[in-house]
Amino acid sequence: MKENEVNHMAEENELDGYVKIDRYNPVKIERIASHYSEILSDIGEDPSREGLLKTPERVAKALQYLTHGYDLKPHEILRSAMFKEEYSQMVVVKDIEVYSMCEHHLLPFFGKAHVAYIPNGHIVGLSKIPRVVEAYSRRLQVQERLTNEIRDCIQETLNPLGVAVVIECKHLCMSMRGIQKQNSVTTTSAFTGAFANERTRAEFLRLITASLD
Ligand SMILES: [Zn+2]
Repeated sequence: MKENEVNHMAEENELDGYVKIDRYNPVKIERIASHYSEILSDIGEDPSREGLLKTPERVAKALQYLTHGYDLKPHEILRSAMFKEEYSQMVVVKDIEVYSMCEHHLLPFFGKAHVAYIPNGHIVGLSKIPRVVEAYSRRLQVQERLTNEIRDCIQETLNPLGVAVVIECKHLCMSMRGIQKQNSVTTTSAFTGAFANERTRAEFLRLITASLD
């Protein structure tokens, strides 16, 4: 198999209406695994001991999964489920799970994203918003860029009256590396259009902090 060949395991998800592609490139897996084998030696471990024998390959596969967002096309995900609709109130999808990797330390950051938009003739299938969050978070990221990319993607495809994104995450590069702020949460936000209005933004913030019970 050539290096740039990829096994495509395409799986049609009829509910979501688009093809989900799991990329698995055995050549890349092997190469990443051999790097990790060297890393194990460099940190003073014995890569040939039983518990570590398959670790480089497992890590290589995990890394490929954790960065599979590079293979997803978030604009197309949204375009695949846009509908004409006259609804013009705020649509809020809150508490979307986020798992990403900080590009400075390759350590996880994780938490929640809250996304809102005000339709301007089109709405989008609700499950697509978490898919867009997934497509951008499963890459090497900084939380600030992640927030802006989600906002821009929704603005560019749906052309709504406004988009709001708030992300709250814990960063293991802060809590694991001896920095004392162990429980600190980083909050980022990005808005467009109608959310420049203070009352609209306040309503969004009220909705994402409200609970169902
Ligand atoms: Zn970091």
